[in-house]
Amino acid sequence: MERTFVMIKPDGVQRNLIGKIISRFEDKGYRIVAMKLMQVTRDLAERHYEEHRGKPFFESLIDYITSGPVVVMVLEGKDVVAGVRKMNGATNPAEAAPGTIRGDYALDIGRNVIHGADSVESAQREISIYFKEEELLNYEKVTEKWIYEYE
Ligand code: GDP
Ligand code: MG
Repeated sequence: MERTFVMIKPDGVQRNLIGKIISRFEDKGYRIVAMKLMQVTRDLAERHYEEHRGKPFFESLIDYITSGPVVVMVLEGKDVVAGVRKMNGATNPAEAAPGTIRGDYALDIGRNVIHGADSVESAQREISIYFKEEELLNYEKVTEKWIYEYE
């Protein structure tokens, strides 16, 4: 089963969106296999976003991500990487469709509430940055036979 890495960014935590955002992913049918509230250090943020090092927004992005607690989680499900990216919406909330998290809850690209890994490879890399192997739980939910035709 595919896994992705998701972060509710500091603005999402400050704006009381943790529960609403997690509910969207639960309602869709994804399984939470790891989750924690944490303060991201600059070192961790720079590793997470190393692909953006040198871009004009890099320093402000690191300031943003380290500005307060975040919620990080690992979600599992069929095509979850692409599915979460669709649910998050376009990077710039001005272009994010209504019904997406960024479309519904954000206005500014530098305060866009949520992160989701952009590929299976990125997800694996980001999961290993934020979680230890033993923090990823293996369990089944009784609802899964009502979510998947084939188990
Ligand atoms: P994502 O994968 O949709 O989150 O987008 P990117 O990987 O392109 O960028 C990572 C994060 O950097 C975005 O979610 C924004 O928080 C931030 N970011 C990207 N582009 C800009 C920009 O042009 N200006 C500012 N201030 N932040 C940006
Ligand atoms: Mg990205």
